[in-house]
Parts: sequence; C-alpha cells; structure tokens
Amino acid sequence: MARYSAFGLLREAIRGPKAWQPLWERRAPAAAYDVVIVGGGGHGLATAYHLARHFGIRRVAVLERTLIGYGNVGRNTTIVRSNYLLPENHYFYEDALRRWHRLGRELNYNIMFSPRGVLDLATSDDQVAECARRGNAMRLAGIDAELLDRGAVARFVRALDPGAPRQFPIHGGLLQRRAGTVRHDAVVWGYARAAARVGVDIIEHCEVLGVSRSGGRISGVETSRGPIAAERIGVAVAGRTAELAQRLGIALPLETHLLQACVTEPVKPMLDTVLIYMFPQGGEVYVSQSDRGGLVFGGMLDGYPSMTQWGQIARVRDVSAALTSLLPQVQQLRLLRHWAGMNDMSMDGSPIIDRIGDEELYLNGGWCYGGFKAIPASGYAFAELIARGTAGDLIRPFSIARFVSGHLLDDKGAGPFPSRQ
Ligand SMILES: Cc1cc2nc3c(=O)[nH]c(=O)nc-3n(C[C@H](O)[C@H](O)[C@H](O)COP(=O)(O)OP(=O)(O)OC[C@H]3O[C@@H](n4cnc5c(N)ncnc54)[C@H](O)[C@@H]3O)c2cc1C
Repeated sequence: MARYSAFGLLREAIRGPKAWQPLWERRAPAAAYDVVIVGGGGHGLATAYHLARHFGIRRVAVLERTLIGYGNVGRNTTIVRSNYLLPENHYFYEDALRRWHRLGRELNYNIMFSPRGVLDLATSDDQVAECARRGNAMRLAGIDAELLDRGAVARFVRALDPGAPRQFPIHGGLLQRRAGTVRHDAVVWGYARAAARVGVDIIEHCEVLGVSRSGGRISGVETSRGPIAAERIGVAVAGRTAELAQRLGIALPLETHLLQACVTEPVKPMLDTVLIYMFPQGGEVYVSQSDRGGLVFGGMLDGYPSMTQWGQIARVRDVSAALTSLLPQVQQLRLLRHWAGMNDMSMDGSPIIDRIGDEELYLNGGWCYGGFKAIPASGYAFAELIARGTAGDLIRPFSIARFVSGHLLDDKGAGPFPSRQ
C-alpha cells in the first residue's frame, strides 16, 4: 500500500522544497557491472529495477546519453490500454495494464494512474465491425471490452454529441473501461527512485558508442565517458535503436519516424475519458484532458523518417482540425505547445524483445508509437530475458526471427504502422 499520510504531507509543507531529497543519486560510472542497460527511458529504468529487485543481479547500471526521461517516455500522450486484436499483443499488453493498476503501490510512488476508459470511436460500418471483432477477441481472452452504439457513446461521454453533423459521423465505439492514462514523468521518477533504492547506478550524460570485445565475446561498452566492462548488455534506446544497432553491426527492420503531440491552454474539467476518433481512410485524433486541464492530443506520424524531434506544422493543423470536428466546443482554445518524439517503427507495428544470437547482448525496441503502455510488462520480461538468457512466454512472439520466418504480428486492429499510437 502507498505510504502517504496527512502527517507526512504536513511535514513536507513545513520543511519546504529546500529540504526535499533527490529521488536518486547522481553517479559516476564504475569500472565494471554485471548488467549495463543502455537507455534511461521507461523500458530501461523498469528493466534495471526488476533485474536488481526480482532477479538478484547486484551490479546494474543504466547509461543515458542525455537526461533520464528526456526521450519518448516524457513526450507521449500517456494512454495505457490493452485493446489489441492479436493474442500475442493483447495478452502482453493486458499483463502491462494489470501491472499499471498496482504499480503505484509497488513503487510506493504516485504515478497518477487514471483508469478513465479509452473509447475508440468508429466512423463507418466497417469500423463498427472491426471494433466488434476486436472486442470479441479481447473478451475471449478475459479482457474487458464493450461495444457501444451511438446512444451509449452519448451517455458515456457527456462532452460529446455523437449525433452532431461532422464529416465523419460517429456510428459507435469500442470501450475499454480499465484503460486510461498515467502521468509519464511520474513513471520515470518512480522507477528511477525504486531502481536506485535497490542499488542500480543511474548514470546520465553517458552515451554508448559501441561494444568492446575480448576473446571474440562482448565484454563491455564504449561510452562517451570511457569504457565500462559488463557481462551482459541490454539495449533499450527507443527511437535510436536502428542507429545504435547499425554501430554494432546489426541491421534491424526499423525506421525512425516522428510523432507529435499538442496541448491546449488549461480549462475546467470537461472530458473524463480518452477518445480516439478514427477516420475511414486511416487517420485519427486521440485526446484526453490532463490533470492541469489542458487537452492533450495527437494523431498520425509526420510521415517520413527523421531524427530531428521537430515536427511539421502541417500535422499540427490536421490533428487540430480533427479535434475541433470531434469536439467543436474547444475551437476557441489556444494551443500552448506541440512537440515531437522519435519512434522506432517496426514493419509490423509490434516490438522486438530478443537476445542477439548467442551473445550476451539483448535488445528491446521497435515500440513504434505504443511503447509507453508496455513499460511495466516489458521491464519485467526484458529483465527476465537478460537474467535467464531465454525469453518468457509473453515476449517469445516478439523475436527478431519473425521477420525471417514471416510470422509477423501485424495487428491491424490496434497498433500497426502507420496508423495507431
Ligand atoms: C508524441 C508521442 C506520443 C505517444 N503516445 C503514446 C501513448 O499515448 N501511449 C503509448 O503507449 N505510447 C505512446 N508513445 C510511444 C512511447 O512514448 C514510446 O514507445 C516509449 O516511451 C519508448 O520507450 P522508452 O520510454 O524506453 O523510450 P525513451 O524515453 O525514448 O528512452 C530511450 C532512451 O535511450 C537514450 N539513448 C538513445 N541512444 C543512446 C545511447 N547510444 N546511449 C545511451 N542512451 C541512449 C535516449 O536518450 C532515451 O532517453 C508516444 C510517443 C510519442 C513521441
């Protein structure tokens, strides 16, 4: 149970921010580790935490080229759900969703999990059929899913008039009530603090440039702060996966694309769920209201490979137009900010979590625009893979070998390149 008390809050209020303790210590790298995790995003931090906490690995370091949380984990639209079509995906993401429900207690950190429901709005009969198919597949797997007609959509979302005339009329939707949002920065801080408390070294401004070898085997990493010996290396660098893999001589079926998100000025509470408004040709806008009151929304990728982290204004216009078509009452709101993150897009929209050959080199990537929701499940499963050398059941389908065998996980229902976040 989370240990927050009225007395604790009062004590902190009286002491003021000057007395606040850092959540983790800034460290210089040691000469050697049992495991080095490359990348201090959500996946890297969660993996390091589980390695030390649940798999008994003592000397673990997270090496981050900039600041932890500066990558996609701090740039996403915070939606967590498990409403996928394919069993390989919906079981894995359901494991993650169950972990989100208890993560605040596990980390003893308020991650502001808000299971406010995620509602996919269908704008054609075909989409209604697709929602029904996906919902049925989910229910057969024991995952909650409700198919809503237009009237039920109106009752569930008070901010929305589904019968109002719009270019793409709303026919119904697929609701997952246990899905919702989680405060992304809090996830970073919670995992970082928990990892540091079980002895993980979190080392910022330490870019991994390559691996070192001894006797034909991997023996450590070359970094911007010098060589560091490591028995095992886990790579979790999201948008930079293909770039780093190339430096290590590994070709991966990944491309880096930009995804943007936007936030409006804050307003009083008006939207108490997450809406995803899907267009017949494949476009969409998704929106939720943050605790500060801003409407956080996004849409499709910018549409071409890039590592700039600068999005195109044309995409901001598209998704803003889609948002105001969905919720005309927000038309007069000012846009406060928009930003972009680099996504490592796999060719089937599903991730890669695997060991590279028989080396002590492990890869976690290809999260596309949907990796935030996966963090708790991926962190545990990747740690298990690194600790034991073999993949557990939940992540076995996410092997690199599927791109050779053709057993792709092209989840048209929810997640594939290039249509879903
Ligand atoms: C605008 C936007 C909206 C999104 N919305 C959602 C959403 O609503 N729901 C959802 O599930 N997903 C969403 N995503 C996707 C999600 O954010 C990512 O899939 C996920 O965060 C990626 O994993 P990560 O957190 O580990 O990545 P990151 O936070 O990017 O972590 C990778 C880290 O590796 C570091 N690194 C890179 N190269 C090196 C190196 N050589 N040496 C050391 N460190 C290195 C980087 O600096 C970075 O900090 C969204 C993404 C974007 C951009």
